[in-house]
Amino acid sequence: MSDVYRNLIAGQWVECNSKKTFPNINPANTDEVLGHFQASGAEEVQMACDEAAKAQPAWAALPAPARGEYLFKAAEKLESRLDSIAADMTREEGKTFPEAKGEVKRAINIFRYFGGEGARSFSYQIPSERPNVFCYMMRKPLGVVGLITPWNFPSAIPAWKMAPALVAGNTVVMKPASLAPLSPYRLIEALVEVGIPAGVVNYVTGSGGAAGNALVEHPAIRAVSFTGSCGVGNSLHKKLSGRKVRVQLEMGGKNPTIVLKDADLDYAVDILVNGAFFSTGQKCTACSRAIIEKDIYKPLVEKLVAKTQALKVGSGLEPGIHIGPAVDENQLETDLKYIEIAKSEGAKLLCGGNRLTGGIYEKGFFVEPTIFDEVKPDMRIAQEEVFGPVLSLMAANDFEDAMRLANGVQFGLSASIVSRDLTRVHQFINSIEAGLITINLPTAGVEYQLPFGGTKESSFGMREQGPLALDFYTESRTVYMKYA
Ligand code: NAP
Repeated sequence: MSDVYRNLIAGQWVECNSKKTFPNINPANTDEVLGHFQASGAEEVQMACDEAAKAQPAWAALPAPARGEYLFKAAEKLESRLDSIAADMTREEGKTFPEAKGEVKRAINIFRYFGGEGARSFSYQIPSERPNVFCYMMRKPLGVVGLITPWNFPSAIPAWKMAPALVAGNTVVMKPASLAPLSPYRLIEALVEVGIPAGVVNYVTGSGGAAGNALVEHPAIRAVSFTGSCGVGNSLHKKLSGRKVRVQLEMGGKNPTIVLKDADLDYAVDILVNGAFFSTGQKCTACSRAIIEKDIYKPLVEKLVAKTQALKVGSGLEPGIHIGPAVDENQLETDLKYIEIAKSEGAKLLCGGNRLTGGIYEKGFFVEPTIFDEVKPDMRIAQEEVFGPVLSLMAANDFEDAMRLANGVQFGLSASIVSRDLTRVHQFINSIEAGLITINLPTAGVEYQLPFGGTKESSFGMREQGPLALDFYTESRTVYMKYA
C-alpha cells in the first residue's frame, strides 16, 4: 500500500470520517500509485471552514510583515526539496521534469513575492480638501476564502491563490484537483513545518461535486477563487450570485498565434511548437490556433510539421522527452474525440492524430502531437478548447483577416503575434481580445510578478498574481481624521 495523505484541518493531519480514499495515479505508467488521498465530503469541509473562521481574527491581527515571514520560510523549505517535489509533480500530472521544476520554482518565487507584499503597498494617503483632515485608504482581509484549483499547474496555481490570501490576513480552505493533489499538499506541508498557526491554512481533498460544492456553500466563506473549466466555473458563479461572496474565475481558452509575412519562419515555428505542444497542450494559455498570413503559409507549415514530427513523446522523467502523457484517460479520450470531430468536419490531418501504444507507451495516456490544416472558423476544432496537443491552422489573407479570425471565438485568455512590423504589433495589442498579450513569444509562459487573467468567457472577476492580486483578497476602508 502506498502512502496515505491526510487532510489538514485546524493544524492537524486528519483522515476523513468515512475513511475512504482515492488513488493518485501516474498517467505515464498507470501501475504506479503515488499515494491515496482522503475522499472527503461536506463534513470535513464544514469543519475546515469553521476552524478557518476561528483562526482568522488572530491571523489578521498579526502584523502583515510577520505573516509574510511564514511565506519566506516556507519558500526556503520548498527550495531545499525542489527536485523531489518536481519529480512527484511529473509523476502525478505528466509534464516533463524540467517543466515541473520550473513550476515549483515559480511557486517558490510567488511565496517570496507575496511574503514581501507583507511589508509593501497596503494603503495610501490622499490629501483632504478640508484643513487639518488626514485621509487614507487601508486594506482589510475578507475573512475565510475558499480556493478551488485545477490539476494542470498543481503547484503554481495553489501558490498564487494562497500566498496573497494569507499575507492579506485571510485564512484559507483549499480543495485541490483530485488528479494532482500531491503538489499542493507539499506547499501546505511546508507552511505547517514553519509553524503557521493552526487553522490558518486548511487542505481538504475530495471530489469537486462533494468537497468543492460544500466549500462554496459554506456560510463562512467570503470569497471563492476558482481556476478550472468554464462549465464548473460558470456553475459556481450561478450558485454564488445570490450571496455577497466575492468570486474570481479563471477558465478556458482557445488561444491564437498570428504569424505575419515578415516573420522569421524558424523563429515562428519554435514559438508555435512551444505554445501548442509543451506540457502536452494542457495549459490554459496553450496555443491551439495558428493564424498564418497566406504569403508564408506553405513554407511555414512545412517547417512546422517537420519540427512537430521530431518531438519526442514519453515519460516526463526521461531526459530528452518533449511531451508527456495526457493527465488521465478522460483527457486522452477528449483529445482523440476532438481529433475525430476535426476530421469529420473536413479539416485535413497533417501529422499525429493517434494514441501511442505498445512498449514505453503501453501503461500511459500518450497521444501524438497533432496538426490540422484547412480549419474553418466555424468548425468545433476552431472554437472549442481541447486541452491537448492539437493545433489548428488557418490561412489569413492579410492582417485584418488574421485579427478577425483571432477574435472570432468566445474565449479571450492569451494571444500572440510573430512580426517585426511595429505598426501591426501595436494594432494587434490595441484590438486583440485577450487578457494576456505576447509579442514574438509563445502564448504561454507568463511571469508571477505581473497580473494574470483573461477576458470574454475565459475569466471573471479581479486579476490574479502581481500587485493586483491583493485587490481580490482585501476590502478597502477609507479613513477621514480631523486632528486639530
Ligand atoms: P475542472 O474540472 O473545472 O476542475 C477544477 C477544480 O474544480 C477541481 O478542483 C475540481 O475538483 C473542482 N470541481 C469540479 N466540479 C466542482 C463543483 N461542482 N463544485 C466545486 N468544485 C468543483 O477543471 P480541470 O479539468 O481541473 O482543469 C482544466 C481546465 O482549467 C481547462 O479548461 C483550463 O483551461 C482551465 N485552466 C484555466 C486557467 C486560467 O488561469 N485561466 C489555468 C489553468 C487551467 P475535482 O478535481 O475533484 O473534479
